Amino acid sequence: MSVMKLAIAGAAGRMGRTLTRIVHETEGCEVAGGLEPPGSPHLGADMGVLAGIGEIGATVGEDALGLVSRIDGVIDFTVPAATVALAELTAQARIVHVIGTTGFSADDEAKLRAAARHATIVKSGNMSLGVNLLAALVRKVAATLDEDFDIEIAEMHHRHKVDAPSGTALLLGEAAAEGRDIPLEAHAVRTRDGHTGPRPDGAIGFATLRGGSVVGEHSVIFAGEAERLELSHKAESRDIFARGAVKAALWARGRKPGLMSMADVLGLAD
Ligand code: NAP
Repeated sequence: MSVMKLAIAGAAGRMGRTLTRIVHETEGCEVAGGLEPPGSPHLGADMGVLAGIGEIGATVGEDALGLVSRIDGVIDFTVPAATVALAELTAQARIVHVIGTTGFSADDEAKLRAAARHATIVKSGNMSLGVNLLAALVRKVAATLDEDFDIEIAEMHHRHKVDAPSGTALLLGEAAAEGRDIPLEAHAVRTRDGHTGPRPDGAIGFATLRGGSVVGEHSVIFAGEAERLELSHKAESRDIFARGAVKAALWARGRKPGLMSMADVLGLAD
């Protein structure tokens, strides 16, 4: 098969720059261009220079429509509004759209499901092998332990992160809820402040910490009467998310349209 032409949306972002480097060094794919919003100071820049690997001849632009017509797929770590708009175009072009963006509303999620009728979308709040394995373990532990064990999810990220709880924390919450066979929305306690009263039975709690340059740390705590089980993952580099995203793009190439997850890519879906 020919080399897969991949564009990177959010090419000047923290993940975008990492993705440029990882796509460039991965066999079977190449960096075909990048997207940043109108007015970005990075428009016209060489993506390799932005990524710290020297010129690679692919530049950052703002013309998403023109770009999607000449590529096989796009890897998108941006903001929800940008991802939803781009999904309309990847659906029209019927190409691969790997979505790492987090913080979607229910309305956004519905639009992405609609786009997935024509685009081949792989979407995950965390693209790393470790976290997806962790989610599989959390599902199993939640199914094994009964409601006597309270489930709390704690996370810490760098000071620039704009959404909370993190997409990964929500992914782990979903896994816990699936294990217990309950809907997450009905049991999630996303914030606590003031006189909250006792913990509701069966709640899945979230605690958010922000600071410094932390790439991403997550712990799922199962707290019982006299014992506590904790499952944790610590990301030490953004490379793990970028490698997962590139793996997802190569995996999705040639597959039918639909909305798939990283668990599908890694063969971890039940
Ligand atoms: P970031 O550094 O802020 O990068 C986001 C980039 O997207 C910025 O360069 C931003 O440009 C650009 N952007 C905004 N609107 C755009 C548009 N309409 N078209 C093209 N580009 C646009 O953030 P980050 O740390 O890389 O994270 C990005 C997203 O990925 C977040 O949602 C984060 O939670 C998520 N994430 C997911 C995973 C995972 O494994 N799934 C891992 C890490 C991060 P401006 O700055 O000019 O607005």
